[in-house]
Amino acid sequence: MIKKILDTRHMDSEKTVFYCSRCINSNQRPGLTFDEQGVCDACQYSDLKEKVIDWNEREKELVSLLDKYRSRDGSFDVIVPSSGGKDSCFVAHQLKHKYNMHPLAVTWAPAIYTDIGWQNLQSFRHAGFDTVLCLPDGKVYAKLARLGFELMGDPFWPWHYGQRAFPLSMAVKFKIPLIIYGEMTRVEYGGGKALWYKPNETYEDLKNYFHMNTKGVDSMVEEGLKYGLIDNGDLSSIDLYRLPPLEEAGKLGTEVHWFSYYKKWIPQENYYYASTNCRFKPNPKRSEGTYSKYASLDDKIDGLHFYMQYIKFGFGRCTSEASQEVRSGHINREEAVALANKYDGEFPQEHFKECLEYMGITEEEFRNVVDKFRPPHLWEKIDGQWHLKTRLK
Ligand SMILES: [Zn+2]
Repeated sequence: MIKKILDTRHMDSEKTVFYCSRCINSNQRPGLTFDEQGVCDACQYSDLKEKVIDWNEREKELVSLLDKYRSRDGSFDVIVPSSGGKDSCFVAHQLKHKYNMHPLAVTWAPAIYTDIGWQNLQSFRHAGFDTVLCLPDGKVYAKLARLGFELMGDPFWPWHYGQRAFPLSMAVKFKIPLIIYGEMTRVEYGGGKALWYKPNETYEDLKNYFHMNTKGVDSMVEEGLKYGLIDNGDLSSIDLYRLPPLEEAGKLGTEVHWFSYYKKWIPQENYYYASTNCRFKPNPKRSEGTYSKYASLDDKIDGLHFYMQYIKFGFGRCTSEASQEVRSGHINREEAVALANKYDGEFPQEHFKECLEYMGITEEEFRNVVDKFRPPHLWEKIDGQWHLKTRLK
């Protein structure tokens, strides 16, 4: 096992755990801030969404952005990074049919496709969208997933890199001036107060994102080479995980925007929209670690990603989803607490064996890495069993 930890955010957070007084967001969420009443910034932003932001004005801003870039000859004028999930269906479909744009959907493949994820991507394509799908070398992807797991406590890292780099590389390749992502997660779920009034992402932001706590994918590769987990023959694939030379993207002037800045973002409504317009299908059963059936469905290592979030920060996928539903008024705080105490941290058993095989590690190695990422202020071991020290109330 590699001893080194590249992403230390879970160790740097406040040592006393508390929760938002309105939703159930935890102060362990990276970057989350609270006001004097103990209300988190996601809840504060949700008040802005409901009471302050003029969504008609925002739509006008969107229209003027799109008017600036809409092509006259039918060539692609906007890239929508897309998984075929409910949110990207909503964005691509609105851009094409409501705003007369010519979107090119760009998909960075998950580590291991689920059947439902693959079906949804097909439905999306058949709903009338040109889609460029990148299927990066599966062996290298798997090695990076293992490195992400061991060094950052999350096998999902190569996906994060690819999903942000590849659309920009395609923008440079096809000379497309605009990229529109769906939701600005940190604004909607908390921890992104500085981004509340920001529609777009600059190259500087992108570079910061890519070097978050590290030198990006290159620091993973560096360690991988040292430990023999990556070899020189793999290096040509790594380029796909890096941003294209920013001079090229800069010359082209490609802008990166967030649809959630322009449109009031309600995941449940995106789901109904995508079901109606793109034949999007939810999972036949609830996802492990939560009660929902329609979010983050396409990757078999998703469950591990959310499980590791629970280990590192003490809150799981259910806390995030239930908090969001409190904010949109679908459930109350008491119901959210009950749901989170029931589902948060549920072990992702369904694809566990396959994920271990994929990363090439044994169950014992897996447990050791998990324990390496438990911050002592969150976890204690009683009679050989790990417990969270603070329970959500
Ligand atoms: Zn809150």
